[in-house]
Amino acid sequence: MEILEKFLSNYTLITILLFAAMIYAAVASAKVKSTFHKYNQLYVSSKICACDAARQILDLNGLYDVQVIRVAGNLTDHYDPKKKIIALSDSVYGSASVGAIGVAAHECGHAVQHAVGYGPIKLRNLFVPVVNICSKAWVWIFMIGCAFGSLQLAEVGIVFFAVIVLFQLLTLPVEFNASNRAIDTLIKTGILYGEEVAGARKVLKAAAMTYVASLLVSIMQLLRLIASTRRRRR
Ligand SMILES: [Zn+2]
Repeated sequence: MEILEKFLSNYTLITILLFAAMIYAAVASAKVKSTFHKYNQLYVSSKICACDAARQILDLNGLYDVQVIRVAGNLTDHYDPKKKIIALSDSVYGSASVGAIGVAAHECGHAVQHAVGYGPIKLRNLFVPVVNICSKAWVWIFMIGCAFGSLQLAEVGIVFFAVIVLFQLLTLPVEFNASNRAIDTLIKTGILYGEEVAGARKVLKAAAMTYVASLLVSIMQLLRLIASTRRRRR
């Protein structure tokens, strides 16, 4: 407890750690792009394209009602649980590369999580409406609190921000689990083979690291906000 007290009173150290986390986030983002680029040029021996691989994985899990569609942009791939749609980006949809199939299988992993009622994703979904409010409101509440010298109001803003951090934390098991499901299925179905599995694993790991990095940035931002209000109190 005393260590935490000491740490929170060291505003300079917290600021340095925040910058370190931001640099790590930039590196993680560059890494996911370069890894995807590398494995987007390595084609799978099964010759199946990402959209067909996704269809096969969905059917295997009995998810016949989930559609696979093409969406514009780069790394815009996602699963929409409301519309029951797996959206694959231009560079993924028709590609028979290790990278593209890894991404498609990961999104299928999310569809399976919803279908089987995977605990962390249910909990995360409960948070969504609250998080939407918190991410819009926290900065205003905090700034108004600071402007009018109300530390209590500033602290309400910080609590709102903490909810966002908690949501990011809940995102981690969901993302890691979707990737693990993806790799397992790709091996089981024989869509990927040998070295290709290691490639897909690298792509999905690089993507997961961006979630870890943004969580670290948010944690440091949260600690910096707490430290700043403590400084004002003194
Ligand atoms: Zn994901």
